[in-house]
Amino acid sequence: MKIGFNEATALKCEGQSLMADLEMCEKYGFDYFEMRFDCLAEYMKEHTLEELADWFKNHNIKPWAYNTLEFFNMLDPFQTMATDWHLDWIKEVCEAIGMKMLIAVPSFNVGLDKTNAEIKAEMVERLRYMAEKMGPEIRISLEFCGVPTCSVNQFGTAYEIVKEVDLPNVGVTLDTFHFHEMGSKLEDLRKADPKKIFVYHLNDCEDLPIGSCGDDKRLWPGEGVVDHDGICAALNEIGFDGVCTIEEFRPEYYAMNHEENIKKAAEVTKAFVAKYYNK
Ligand code: ZN
Repeated sequence: MKIGFNEATALKCEGQSLMADLEMCEKYGFDYFEMRFDCLAEYMKEHTLEELADWFKNHNIKPWAYNTLEFFNMLDPFQTMATDWHLDWIKEVCEAIGMKMLIAVPSFNVGLDKTNAEIKAEMVERLRYMAEKMGPEIRISLEFCGVPTCSVNQFGTAYEIVKEVDLPNVGVTLDTFHFHEMGSKLEDLRKADPKKIFVYHLNDCEDLPIGSCGDDKRLWPGEGVVDHDGICAALNEIGFDGVCTIEEFRPEYYAMNHEENIKKAAEVTKAFVAKYYNK
């Protein structure tokens, strides 16, 4: 299994930037890179997409996903218009640098009057619209969040939605922190088509009451209570073979030196895939 780096991991380290992350990820052997929208926006103040495309042409690491289009369902008309602009921009970025994935996060606090059936039906329509807009070359990966107020907060629900969308370029993100945080079920994972799991975010979680953790409670894989044995067994059982991408948001890791952070991220990700997948 290949390994990836998500820019959230070193986001607040001193000296962090899109280019600093890329250079370090290349140095420490990551295969793929998940680019954050805010890091890219900062880069664009002084650079062009052509420069970024050139950089990738001359290095081994490849762009994996645009992270993220946040909050794309149950929007008001103004938010819908803003999202359309964002999608146009993402498409331009993807085409310029050869990136083929967009991670999309569902809206939070959509109102207590919205039933699951209503949320699902509306999201199916939204994802079909977005998939059409992005075109068949760009995949959209729905990332449910393990937070009580997120409109889609379990793997099973996200999977049902993409199944109903039924398009080759719409799938799900499996983030192990989010999977743990709202008690997603291993049996749902075991029933999934591995080709529908587009993105795999690796991390761990402190041992706190379920659903109570913010992203700052994420830990390096193996240091917390996420059931990686169970998740990996299920993924191996269904024959999943994707990219395992480390994604942390922990203040203690941001206090690390930028290079030390990425070096450590590479070490734990390589050790993780060696233990569970690349035997
Ligand atoms: Zn994630």
